[in-house]
Order: sequence, then structure tokens, then C-alpha cells
Amino acid sequence: MAEKGRFAPSPSGRMHLGNLFSFLVAWLDARSAGGRMVLRMEDLDPDRTGEPWTSHIVEDLRWLGLDWEEGYGVGGPDGPYAQRERTAFYDAAFQRLQAAGVVYPCWCSRAQRLAASAPHLGEERDLGHCPCRDLSQVEREDRAMVRAPAWKAALPHERVRFRDLVQGEQVFDLARDCGDFVIRRADGVYGYQLAVTVDDALMGITRVVRGRDLLDSAARQIWLMGQLGYRPPVYAHVPLLLSPDGRRLSKRERDLDLGVLRQSHRPEELLGALAWLAGLRKEPAPVTAEALARDFSWNRVTQADLILQAGALAK
Ligand code: GLU
Repeated sequence: MAEKGRFAPSPSGRMHLGNLFSFLVAWLDARSAGGRMVLRMEDLDPDRTGEPWTSHIVEDLRWLGLDWEEGYGVGGPDGPYAQRERTAFYDAAFQRLQAAGVVYPCWCSRAQRLAASAPHLGEERDLGHCPCRDLSQVEREDRAMVRAPAWKAALPHERVRFRDLVQGEQVFDLARDCGDFVIRRADGVYGYQLAVTVDDALMGITRVVRGRDLLDSAARQIWLMGQLGYRPPVYAHVPLLLSPDGRRLSKRERDLDLGVLRQSHRPEELLGALAWLAGLRKEPAPVTAEALARDFSWNRVTQADLILQAGALAK
């Protein structure tokens, strides 16, 4: 089977150096395996995502020379490629989960707070047993008359095992390490985990390369794939990029977003700096994405988080 990787950005701000690092490695992995790339916009959350970020992401990836054959802006057989337009697929998967009895309605206000946004390290987690899971049918009907529920996955005390290309062997106890999570918000917006699982499966993605903050999401997604009868892809959770004081880079670091960096750097300079930080090059000399793909090897990608040393982006 032909390999297929993906870029799956959330268009909630300008792409920053940390996003770029994950996207670069995802692209190198797919290309060095002779595979295709898909661009999928993860714009589920109507309040936090959309233009102008969607257009900036397309533009920034093109500027960097990270191309894709299929997906947002170019089309393809498994579209549409913006999650906002894929509700019918999520509805169908949700109905199957309901029929299988692995989701339950939840009226906790936390359900709304946790929302459909992508979970990242340090963000609140919905761990533990939700009291709504134990409501009787009558109690559910009473509550449903007052307010529409969110729907959550009921995770069993079962282990999920997988081998991550960067982080090695992984074992997660679903109930203990992941906990019940939102499949569909009370306002009908689907959660990140369901949408990603359905999309990766229906788009034929065989390789998922992304930041290590999403490692335990792989356990949730593998479980969901099992419930829906899909085969999980290969996972590679790459190190995070940290600022010199050890904080994770985020969209708040405006000086490291592509809008700013593009004013002072050429694409090859940014790619060279990242390749050096990741262990793919001995020095931060300018390099093209194609040149990096020629000798890419997972063996050389470091497992430890990358500290953006002062001077890494010097000219
Ligand atoms: N859209 C998610 C994010 O930008 C990434 C999802 C994924 O790669 O599975 O954080």
C-alpha cells in the first residue's frame, strides 16, 4: 500500500516554528518513504479557527517548499479537506458508536469547557469517571428535556499498545491514562479525537507524524479506530520545540511565527536551523526540504525536546 502522510494544522493563529518542525518531519517521513502528503484543515471550532489563518498556512507551507498532492486547496478523492465540511462523516461514525453503546450523554459543564479543541500538554484533562455515565435512562430523559447533552466516549479499563517511531513502545490503560473524552459537544460540534480518527481512516493516512504532546491521543484514536473497524496508522510523536527557558513554544510567541520570521529569513535558513536542532544536520547551514529528504532517517531524529538556543536563527 502506498504510504500517505498528512499536515493537520488547526488554523487558530499563524504557524510558528514548533508547528513548522512537526510539519517538516512529517513531510520528510512521507517523502523519504516515497509517499504522498495530504493537507487537512482542522477548523472544527467555529469560534477559534478560520480565516485569515487558513490562507496563511497554505501560503507558508508553499513558501517553505513543503508541498502536498492532495487536500485543502488542491482537492483529491477523499475530500472535502476542511473538517468543517465533513460533518456528515462524523455523524455516521457517531451513530455507529451510539449503536455500539460506547458513548453516553453528559451534562457536566466541563464537557463544554473541554470542547472540541485539540488537547495539549498542560491543558485540563477530562480524567476519571464521569458521574453522567451512571445515570439511569429516566434521569437521562429528564435532563435531556432541560438541556442538550454533550456525548462522551466510555473508556474501558483496557490496555492499548503501540510502537511509536520516536518514543518507542507505548502502553496506555485507557480508563486510567486517557479517561472519558468528548465525542460531540452539546452544540453539535464534534471533538478533535473523533474527527481526527475518522479523517485519518477515510483519507487513507498510513503515517501520523506530530508533536509528542499528542502521544496519549494516539491511544484514544487507536481505541476509536477499533470501535469503528479501522486500521490504525503508524505513529511518530516528535519532540517539542522549547524556548531557552524551557517553555513550550506556542502561538503566543509572536516573534517566532512565520509572519515575523519570513521578513528576516529565507525558507532554507529556517529549514537548516530546524534540521540542525533535530539532529539531521551537523550545522545550521541553509538547506532545502528536498535535500533533507534525500538522507532523512528516523534514527537521527532526537527524542529529547529541542531547546531553541539563542543564535539558532542567527544569520
Ligand atoms: N490539529 C492538531 C493541532 O494543530 C493536530 C492534530 C494531529 O496531528 O493529530 O494541534
